[in-house]
Order: sequence, then C-alpha cells, then structure tokens
Amino acid sequence: MKFSFKITPSALIAVHWDHWCYNGNMDSFSDGHFVLLHTNPNTLIRDLIRDNCWSLPNEIPVNVKLAIQDIPIFTHSSSCLFWDNLKLSRFSDYINAFHSNMPFCPWYKLVWHKSHALRYSAFTWLALVGGLKTSDALLIRNIQIPNVCSLCHVFPESSSHLFFECSYSYEILISIMPVARQLLLRPSILQLLEWITNDPDTTQHTKKLYSIFSYCSIYYIWKERNSRRFANIFNSSSTTTLCIKKDVNLKICLCSGSNSVLLLLLVVALRLGLHLCACCADISTPGQ
Ligand SMILES: [Zn+2]
Repeated sequence: MKFSFKITPSALIAVHWDHWCYNGNMDSFSDGHFVLLHTNPNTLIRDLIRDNCWSLPNEIPVNVKLAIQDIPIFTHSSSCLFWDNLKLSRFSDYINAFHSNMPFCPWYKLVWHKSHALRYSAFTWLALVGGLKTSDALLIRNIQIPNVCSLCHVFPESSSHLFFECSYSYEILISIMPVARQLLLRPSILQLLEWITNDPDTTQHTKKLYSIFSYCSIYYIWKERNSRRFANIFNSSSTTTLCIKKDVNLKICLCSGSNSVLLLLLVVALRLGLHLCACCADISTPGQ
C-alpha cells in the first residue's frame, strides 16, 4: 500500500474505510470495532477533531482513545493523502504502480495516442485482444451464433477475417489508403499499424492520419457488421467509406482550432486529396 494518510484538522478521511490508523483501517486496528461501533460510516476524521485536538466519542474505551490520540495532527499541512511519500505526485504515478504487475504490451503505442478519438482506439484494442463478440470468440464461451461473415457471406467470422482479410473491409481500406496495395497480402490490424508506423517513405503527419483512418475503419466495419446482424440494415463499402472519411475529417476540423497537431493533419488530409467543405457535410476524394 503506497498511500499514506496525514491527519489534518480538515482531513476528508473516512474513519471507517481509509487506512489512516497506523497505516491500517479500523478492522486491522486492535479494538478498532469500538470506533466503528460509535461512529457512522460517513464520519470523517475532521469530525473527530476539535480545536486541533482529538475529540473522540466518550463511549470509546480509554486504551483505544490513548492509541488514537498518539497519532499526530498536522495543523500546518494542507494535504492529507500522499502517494509513495512523495510531496508531489501525479495520477499517472498511481496508474503506473497499479499496472506494474501486468505483462508489458509492446504494441500499445500503435493503438493509444493523444488526440485520437477514444472510441476508435477502444474498438481497435478490443479487436486486437479478442474482445469483440465475433462468432469464433463467442464459440469459445460455448455460445453459438451463425458463423458466416455478415460482410462477405463467404468465410467464417473472426476478428482477423473482419480486419482486413474480408473483401468488404479490404475494399474500404484500399479506397481510404490506396498505398496499402503495396502490401503483398491483406494485412492484419497489427501488420497494418506496424507498416504505417515503420514505412520510411511516409511523413509523420501522414502516418498519424493513416492511423486515425485505420482505427475509424475498424469502428465502422464493426458497426456495419452489427447493423447487418441485428438491424438488417446493409450499407455498401462505398457508403461506409464515406462515413469514415466524414467522421475523421469532422474530428480534424472541429479540433484543429485548438490543436496544432490536428491542424497539420488537416493540411495533410488536403494534400492527400480529401476535399472538405466548411461544415464537413460533403467529403470525397477526387473522382468520387
Ligand atoms: Zn467477410
């Protein structure tokens, strides 16, 4: 436990739940049940302090009172909660410690970026770790659903097929990113993202733009799959492609005013031939 509490007259420390008493909570403290018995679950430490001294309920036994009164009250400290005994700590310190036992994921930077839409990255992550409820993933959990791909109606559905072995999703990928034709085989998500990241002939901002398009494509392809399965609504790959372009460009246009990176992406999008109108209502590549 790297959290430590410092008792102050205004401390918002929960008497029942927090580990404020000799680095433990009341359950771990000898005779702590007397304190629990004579305070309520919402009682805060500041309720037990008056004029910078402990003011404990009379019903608490003397030995317990004496033990608590030995805990110093820091009248000049404004903070009552510390992480790893650091004067200044950030939320990321806590998050890093919380996940310190997790195995390292070498490709996480391919998915999580600043300035990217969270929902796109979240669905990309789910697709990569088997979190999407495709028929093969459900079968592992003994749930049987029709296993034919709802997009091409030919091959069994799986995450690797949907992204981007399937002819429907590959058409979308190629129409958004024609340079992906350079790849000898239809890529998996990781192969696509690694290729975008490592391609020496692509500028950094073009790479960012391609990455956003890739995540957005995964989101819309999965959405199309669900529309077909559950709402019986079918969109062609061209329609889905236009939705993807519109969504990405809307994000870039809306955010570019306050974000220089996205402003540069807007410039790159224009160079790549994505035509934007002022309100992003009509987005098309030349020839469409
Ligand atoms: Zn398919």
